[in-house]
Amino acid sequence: MAVETTPRPLAGPLPGGSEGAAVSVEPMVTGTIQVPEVIQASPSGEMGLFKALRAMRGPTRAVPVPAFLVQHPTAGPLLIDTGLHPSIASDPAANLGRLAASMTEPVIGKGEDVPARLRAQGIEPSSIRTVVLTHLHVDHASAVSEFPGAACVVSKAEWEDATSGLVPILKYYRPQQFDHALDFRTVDYEADSVNSFSTFGRSFDLFGDGSVVLVSTPGHSAGHQSVVLRTGAGTLLVAGDAIFLDGQLEPGADLAARARDRHNYERSIRELALFHREHPSATITPGHDPGFYESLPARIG
Ligand SMILES: [Zn+2]
Repeated sequence: MAVETTPRPLAGPLPGGSEGAAVSVEPMVTGTIQVPEVIQASPSGEMGLFKALRAMRGPTRAVPVPAFLVQHPTAGPLLIDTGLHPSIASDPAANLGRLAASMTEPVIGKGEDVPARLRAQGIEPSSIRTVVLTHLHVDHASAVSEFPGAACVVSKAEWEDATSGLVPILKYYRPQQFDHALDFRTVDYEADSVNSFSTFGRSFDLFGDGSVVLVSTPGHSAGHQSVVLRTGAGTLLVAGDAIFLDGQLEPGADLAARARDRHNYERSIRELALFHREHPSATITPGHDPGFYESLPARIG
């Protein structure tokens, strides 16, 4: 489908940063989807598309779909990813499309979706000013329409891949989720102005104060990005789906069966693994690890 929404390039930091700022982060599991274990960690390496689609019919397990509420002292609350859309509780196909809905069998408990959790804390979803999308896959961009007041920050390469091609769902995109009159802002990691940060070759300091640094970790999807957060309790790196499971940064770990670009995927894993080695006390969140989110505190920093 042709996408009507036109994003604007994000040339410099968003307003609201303040020197030395530290954020606090609330990880939120917004529901579960069914995923074959072999897709998350394949002992035999990469799988072709049709073998992967067949694997979706095999044994699966429920995995969490996380999103993160970040409280910045001067830039206000922001989200990283949006979790499953509230409508999925009653009609999964409306938001995900029939194929993804039947493959993933999503489940959302009452009050688990991000808008409900924000309202429970007295935050109106329309008051969220910034949404960072690690990527636009259906289980990450699902609820972006619920945040009409936000600048929605995504990488340029991700936007271009998600809005091109004839059958977006084969790349795990559903443009109907994000083709709304939203203020999409794209980060061009190929631009000359982009800097390196720690072990990452390409980064973008979102508020210019070092508290929320976007780093380019492509490969799982074309323009996947991760987020390095300076919290009051140390560093938290939201790795999106650059890794699915805790432990995938260890040498020799089984990696995902599918990646949009295998070379970039493995290079991003190496950059993340190096970061992990150089910052052993930092917490790095995997995309869909069943046990991981239960072990995290309700609020970090
Ligand atoms: Zn993904």
